[in-house]
Amino acid sequence: MAAYDLIVVGAGIVGAHCASLAVARGRKVAIVESGLVGGGATAASMGHLVAMDDDPAELALSHYSLGLWERYAELAEAEFSRCGTLWVAADEAEMQALPAKIARLAAAGVHAEAVDAARLRQLEPALAGDLAGGMLVARESVVYPPRIAHWLVDRSVAAGASLYAGRRVLRLRDEAAELDDGEILHGPVLVAAGGASGELLPELPMHVRRGHLVITDRHPGIVRHQLLELGYADSAHGDDDVSVAFNVQPRPTGQLLIGSSRERDRTGREVDLPVLRRMLGRALRYLPALRGLQAIRVWTGLRPCTRDGRPYIGAVSGRRGTWVAAGHEGLGVTTSTGTAHLLLDLIDGRPTAIDPAPFDPARVLA
Ligand SMILES: Cc1cc2nc3c(=O)[nH]c(=O)nc-3n(C[C@H](O)[C@H](O)[C@H](O)COP(=O)(O)OP(=O)(O)OC[C@H]3O[C@@H](n4cnc5c(N)ncnc54)[C@H](O)[C@@H]3O)c2cc1C
Repeated sequence: MAAYDLIVVGAGIVGAHCASLAVARGRKVAIVESGLVGGGATAASMGHLVAMDDDPAELALSHYSLGLWERYAELAEAEFSRCGTLWVAADEAEMQALPAKIARLAAAGVHAEAVDAARLRQLEPALAGDLAGGMLVARESVVYPPRIAHWLVDRSVAAGASLYAGRRVLRLRDEAAELDDGEILHGPVLVAAGGASGELLPELPMHVRRGHLVITDRHPGIVRHQLLELGYADSAHGDDDVSVAFNVQPRPTGQLLIGSSRERDRTGREVDLPVLRRMLGRALRYLPALRGLQAIRVWTGLRPCTRDGRPYIGAVSGRRGTWVAAGHEGLGVTTSTGTAHLLLDLIDGRPTAIDPAPFDPARVLA
């Protein structure tokens, strides 16, 4: 009989961090991944490690997670680049909202500073000339998520974890998981299956928000910071069925990654040309220099979302020995480190570094 101290379903960035931490804490771990390790939403992501201030609970989890990410700053596989985040204000109204934003971030321990129009041009000369200024968060970074997921899983396996690659968990039982070939793995189960988590835990509502990304050929030096428009949070967390926002990232390779779009409940992976055109139009308004560049790949990915925008992290009540870490939407790479620590502390009955209550799955079961 295959018996484990923890069976992790899904080896995206969330499952990989949870498995790796569980192994480090001495657990006998199984990892079940039906596709490629890090091949789900994790592979589609921009890999921006960022704190957003519109939800205090998410901000606390992000800040906690950003601190934990520092452990990977020197890891070659992380492709960690501390480019900083430069939020761009289109007009004076957005500039006026900055002090409150900076204060909310500061209250959570994140240092941000306002920049005026002249400094903005100095920091990023290729931005459109009519922008009003912005906000610099100098310590933020970007990473390459699928490679980190691989590294974490490889390291876990080298330390004794069992990887069930290309195997799907069909259903959950009390303290057990049934695989697609009928094999049963016994032990506490952690569902970290991203957008597919709802198939195993239908009582926890899950939907997706599709996003497009474009990557260019190598054009080093055009921008230096991860750039976002200040209206990004409205696009990210608003109720529109389709929204786009300016979001450009310099990759360490010299390529530029261009986002972002959000389409509620679109599940196909095909590229939608009207949405792509809107997204690129938005990017050109802020960064006209993009017009001369060569795009080499366009793709879509599915952000796993809960109804209230907060991930489910914790025990699934009503199911013995069942845990969940899923639904991280557009912040799942950022918050994967904090998620793993929060969850393993809950499993181990240790005190947690941040309040777990806002993420308790029980909130939707009442
Ligand atoms: C376009 C886009 C841009 C993004 N940009 C950022 C960003 O810049 N910063 C950021 O922090 N976040 C970003 N995100 C969000 C982030 O990518 C996700 O929140 C995160 O990757 C979710 O990780 P996960 O491990 O929960 O899910 P996934 O990466 O989807 O992993 C789940 C895994 O579970 C496996 N699985 C599913 N069902 C089963 C089953 N029954 N049995 C076995 N295995 C199963 C899947 O094959 C998959 O590999 C972005 C997302 C998108 C789509």
